[in-house]
Amino acid sequence: MRELLNQTIPNLSKEACDKFVAYYDLLIDWNTRMNLTAITEPADVVKKHFYDSLAALPYLRDGAKVADVGTGAGFPAIPLLIMNPTLKITLVDSLQKRITFLEEVLKTLGLSAECVHARAEDFGRDPDVRGRFDATVSRAVASLPVLLELTVPLLTVGGKAYCYKGDVSEELVTARNALHLLHATCETVPVEADYGARTLVICTKNAPTPSIYPRKAGMPSKKPL
Ligand code: SAM
Repeated sequence: MRELLNQTIPNLSKEACDKFVAYYDLLIDWNTRMNLTAITEPADVVKKHFYDSLAALPYLRDGAKVADVGTGAGFPAIPLLIMNPTLKITLVDSLQKRITFLEEVLKTLGLSAECVHARAEDFGRDPDVRGRFDATVSRAVASLPVLLELTVPLLTVGGKAYCYKGDVSEELVTARNALHLLHATCETVPVEADYGARTLVICTKNAPTPSIYPRKAGMPSKKPL
């Protein structure tokens, strides 16, 4: 495991390597009792979960306030936090069991982050958090038009939503209306990967989000913008 980690993740400290090993052990153990991931082989976890999660790392400044919307078993937030513990991360997921798992991960790894059990639609309408994040990160949560409605309201003006995607060409076309309505623009950055097409879609919030977004829970996916 350590060898795989050191081969795959550049500039990995001994401390970060220990944390990834502990995270892997917890993931595999808890996965026997709840559905966390279909990917369990060490080489696959290192590449397709840990390394893949780090695509946004170079873009996040020290101390940035970041929300991982639909974090599941902690991807991409936990690997980002292992590599940069100065990040102020909020982990959001609608499944309580996954939040319980993440609290255990944070405790075991000695990392600090906030865990929130909520639908992103409700979280994004909470005045205490709406418009307060420098960045959001999200992987394998929803199509781009849906994801933008869940994430852009959380950002400060000028903040960025980092959407981890595969081949994104069709989604970029269907996201045009959402970008317009949410006052956002986006660019794509190809991610180096030997396990399929990976793209980081970086969306910038250019003006405050109209108060009607996000719509009530379920609506963004039922009727994407
Ligand atoms: N981001 C993780 C990853 O890359 O492995 C998890 C991906 S999993 C396919 C999608 C996760 O998003 C699930 O844990 C689900 O509970 C969460 N999710 C989906 N829709 C959500 C919503 N509207 N609000 C909060 N969490 C949501």
